Amino acid sequence: MEPRILLLGAPGAGKGTQSKRLADEYDIEHVTTGDALRANKDMETEYGTPREYMDAGELVPDAVVNEIVREALSNADGYVLDGYPRNLEQATYLSEITDLDAVIYLSVGKEELVRRLTGRRMDPETGDIYHTEFNMPDDEAVRDRLVQRDDDTEDVVRDRLRVYEENTEPVIEHYREEGDLVEIDGEASPDEVFERIVAVLD
Ligand code: ADP
Ligand code: ADP
Repeated sequence: MEPRILLLGAPGAGKGTQSKRLADEYDIEHVTTGDALRANKDMETEYGTPREYMDAGELVPDAVVNEIVREALSNADGYVLDGYPRNLEQATYLSEITDLDAVIYLSVGKEELVRRLTGRRMDPETGDIYHTEFNMPDDEAVRDRLVQRDDDTEDVVRDRLRVYEENTEPVIEHYREEGDLVEIDGEASPDEVFERIVAVLD
C-alpha cells in the first residue's frame, strides 16, 4: 500500500517544493488544489470563476475544491495532498472520502513566509518552483521564462496569510487535537526539511 500523506502549512511554507520531492521519492501522486485551480482559473462554475477568488487571496468555494480532490484521490493509490483542506468543512469532507497515513505540518514564521512568497517564481513549462534569492535555475533559458504568480504580490500575500490564520489554522489545531499531527520545523534548507519529513515517514 502506497503512503497517503497530508502536508499542511501556511502559504509559502514549502508544501509544493517538498510535495514534488515526496511524490518522486515514494512514487505517489502529487495532488494539489492550487495547481489544479490555476490550470482552470477561468472555468465558469455556479460560483463564478476561480480567478475571482484567487486574485483576491480568498478561498475558492468548498464545492469546487471538494470535487477536484474527490476526483484526484479516486484515481490515486498513494498520494501527497498539498493545499487542502484549508478550512474545517473541507477537513470533514476529506475524512469522509479517504484515510490518511501521515499528517505533517511544516511550521515557518510569518516574516519568512512573506519573504518566500514575494520572491517565488514559477517555471510555466514544468511547474517547477524557484526563488529570486534562495533558489534560481542555472539554465539561462529557464531563468528568462520564469514568472511571478498573480497572487504573490505583497498586498495579496497579506490577504492570503490573514485567510490562512482565520480558516486554516483551526484545521491544524483539529489534527493536533486528534493526535495525528507531526510538526516539522520548516525553516531550514529544502534538503534538510526533506530529510526531516522522510525521517518521520520511515
Ligand atoms: P500557496 O502556495 O499559497 O499555499 P496555493 O497554490 O495552494 O497557494 O493556492 C492558491 C490559491 O488557490 C489560494 O489562495 C485559493 O484562492 C485557492 N485555493 C487553493 N486550494 C484551495 C482550497 N483547498 N480551498 C479553497 N481555495 C483554494
Ligand atoms: P507553498 O507550496 O507552501 O506555498 P512553495 O514550495 O511554493 O510553498 O515555496 C514558497 C517559496 O519558498 C518558493 O519560492 C520556494 O522556492 C521557496 N522555498 C521553499 N522551501 C524553502 C526552504 N526550505 N528555504 C528557502 N526557500 C524555500
